[in-house]
Amino acid sequence: MRKPWTLPPCGQGGRKIQFPYVNNFETIWEYKKAFSLGRIDFFDYIGPACPICGNLDCYKEIEDYWRYAIDLFPEFMKDPVPIARFLCQTRRSTFSLLPIQLIPYFQYTVNAVIGTLFLGVSCRRMGQTGFCGAEASVDPESNVTAWLVICWLMIVVTGLRRSHAELMRVYDLGCIQISGTGVTWQEFADYFVVFGIAPETKWRPLLHALLYRYSHTTKLFLFGTPSQSRLAKV
Ligand SMILES: [Zn+2]
Repeated sequence: MRKPWTLPPCGQGGRKIQFPYVNNFETIWEYKKAFSLGRIDFFDYIGPACPICGNLDCYKEIEDYWRYAIDLFPEFMKDPVPIARFLCQTRRSTFSLLPIQLIPYFQYTVNAVIGTLFLGVSCRRMGQTGFCGAEASVDPESNVTAWLVICWLMIVVTGLRRSHAELMRVYDLGCIQISGTGVTWQEFADYFVVFGIAPETKWRPLLHALLYRYSHTTKLFLFGTPSQSRLAKV
């Protein structure tokens, strides 16, 4: 049975809302291909009721928008991807469906972010600084800097902490030590050990399965903050 959408705290007129598009495409590029060929039935995905106001026959598709996506694994690739957009005609709010391969307001895919953090963990184990080691390990064309890696670590660990209670339904997170004084590489590494997602394995399908399960169950993004949550803070 279809789970109800999570209504944002502020769904009033003019608000832009981002929902996850939970999908089985292996990569963001597979999604783009299917989108471009008209093979994705977003109406079937959303269902008959408008996710903003709950009314039937309310939402309609409006022009999609394009944004850049950057992946780094297995190789560097930067390309624009389309995002489907809709209008709730009752509240005059627009909402978009962001594929779960992406993080709200990030050009780099989840794949790129987690893969780079795995490199950081490996560098740290070899006695280097994780942030600089990760920067040096990825494709130089990607413009990844140590500062960006620090931001990614914070965003990812923040997302994991925020989702901790939900993740506990599936994983035994008893061993995760939440550091009171900031975000640590160890905390990131510990979560992924529990998830069974190790850098030396074929981690990308496992990561996708984690994202799929989380967003399918909660209708939320595991990482990053969608527009409606940002606006609610103002
Ligand atoms: Zn509506």
